[in-house]
Amino acid sequence: MAKPEKILRLILGDQLNSAHSWLKRPDGRVSYILMEVRQETDYVTHHIQKVAAFFAAMRAFADHLRRQGHQVIYLRLDHPENRQTIRANLLPLIQSNGFQRFEYLLPDEHRLDVQLKELVAFLPVPCSSHDSEHFLTQRHEVKEMFAGKNRFLMESFYRRMRERFDVLMEGGKPVGGGWNFDTENRRPYDGSVPIPPPLVFENDVSEIVDMIRRSKVKTFGAIEPQQLIWPIDRPQALKLLAAFIADGLPHFGAYQDAMTLKSWSLFHSRLSFALNAKILHPLEVIAAAVNAWEKHPQWIAIQQVEGFVRQILGWREYMRGVYWALMPGFAGMNFFGHDLPLPDFYWTAETRMRCLAAAIGQSLRYAYAHHIQRLMLTGNFALLVGVHPDAVDAWYLGIYIDAVQWVEMPNTRAMSQFADGGVVATKPYVSSANYIRKMSDYCGACAYDPKKKHGEGACPFNSLYWGFYARHREKLASNPRIGMMYRTWDRMAAAEKKSILKQADIYQKDVNRL
Ligand SMILES: Cc1cc2nc3c(=O)[nH]c(=O)nc-3n(C[C@H](O)[C@H](O)[C@H](O)COP(=O)(O)OP(=O)(O)OC[C@H]3O[C@@H](n4cnc5c(N)ncnc54)[C@H](O)[C@@H]3O)c2cc1C
Ligand code: SF4
Repeated sequence: MAKPEKILRLILGDQLNSAHSWLKRPDGRVSYILMEVRQETDYVTHHIQKVAAFFAAMRAFADHLRRQGHQVIYLRLDHPENRQTIRANLLPLIQSNGFQRFEYLLPDEHRLDVQLKELVAFLPVPCSSHDSEHFLTQRHEVKEMFAGKNRFLMESFYRRMRERFDVLMEGGKPVGGGWNFDTENRRPYDGSVPIPPPLVFENDVSEIVDMIRRSKVKTFGAIEPQQLIWPIDRPQALKLLAAFIADGLPHFGAYQDAMTLKSWSLFHSRLSFALNAKILHPLEVIAAAVNAWEKHPQWIAIQQVEGFVRQILGWREYMRGVYWALMPGFAGMNFFGHDLPLPDFYWTAETRMRCLAAAIGQSLRYAYAHHIQRLMLTGNFALLVGVHPDAVDAWYLGIYIDAVQWVEMPNTRAMSQFADGGVVATKPYVSSANYIRKMSDYCGACAYDPKKKHGEGACPFNSLYWGFYARHREKLASNPRIGMMYRTWDRMAAAEKKSILKQADIYQKDVNRL
């Protein structure tokens, strides 16, 4: 009788999907390999919490698989036989263990996709790739849906997803009479409902942190090694989901765009790490929210649950599709030709601008900022100043707990920096102090005056905002959503315009002193 084939299956650090069909039952022929490698810790400088959380989650997943009876090979970063790249580790492993077949789950990052395709061409055994069974759409669906169009409209994609997955639909129509309730989702935080204290975990990752430091992996940001706050396994992720449904969801939509010094997470779910590591499935998160709304419509209004569903069923899947539609050219897009370095205070939070100090400070402390802080504070400022999109991308890819390129890049390069020239956003997401003042309580505690455009103590966002529009008039004036800005600018007195541009120039040149 022929000997059964020995199979090696690779699971990457963001493929921790315990419901995958591979894992239904243990198979004596199959071994799973998970590896902590320098190629992944070093392709960008990461926040220490991000590296520790991924390694801790991978270790927890490997333990879970072993408990289920699966055979697991786990290479720690400091294992003497770890050659520190996926490729260099796999060949000797396959040869020395007599594996006759190699299988992997399709990665979500272009970089790894290319690498694994090259690798299988070189391995001496038959190889195959398999779906990670996490996303609700295929990689190329967004590209196919918008074939021949210059702009990819999220709203059209989202409506299709609602119909396709029958989420918040009734008799073929959207529940509540509208596809979205965006206009009701833009409230500043007014204190009328208490903000729930964020549920945090106390995972002891001190051994991992010691190993990272001993191995001299370059990281930044703060960590309390005995109290990593992020969920690293399914029980913790499910607990966080339940806490969000109970405390966050009832007010999620209303305060989605709000920013306050009173809380670093407001009513946000902080589920992005668990989702992106595939510990949670998007449909189970959506179902939990929709079920809670169905059971308790008196606590959770349709606009709250719709606002949340839109993020996961809409934005998350859409951004992934945008990534695959635009890669690899996406990584080099720079519509405005911006070329300045990132201001130093992005690494320290040491700036007198209260809004940026708060958003960057909490990012360094928790590896987290919510969407509007990322888009309208750090992203907005980098765009107004004219930072090179590569530098902006590298910062976002490093600093956030949930940062993986397929979702980081479309949000950063396209949505926040408009480096794609408008495939994703209809106009650049820029604002003066006015928006920040309206949506936050930062300005009251700031050294700068949000109402002043130039002169002593003028808020930098104001002059930089007009400086940005003046600088890029040729590229933006024909955009119908921007025309009004230029009309406002043109109506200003010449002396006022001159003072604003002079102020913008001073701030741009001396950005590190702001
Ligand atoms: C410049 C910039 C960079 C970003 N980088 C990342 C990143 O690297 N990884 C990442 O997961 N998200 C990124 N986002 C999107 C968004 O900010 C985060 O998903 C969100 O802040 C995560 O926190 P949360 O889990 O509390 O989200 P919630 O506000 O509770 O939203 C629920 C979930 O919806 C999904 N979601 C919400 N907004 C988006 C979006 N715009 N795109 C994709 N999914 C979304 C996330 O999975 C999130 O967990 C970025 C946004 C900007 C503007
Ligand atoms: S005044 Fe300007 S710099 Fe200060 S918090 Fe407000 S927007 Fe930010």
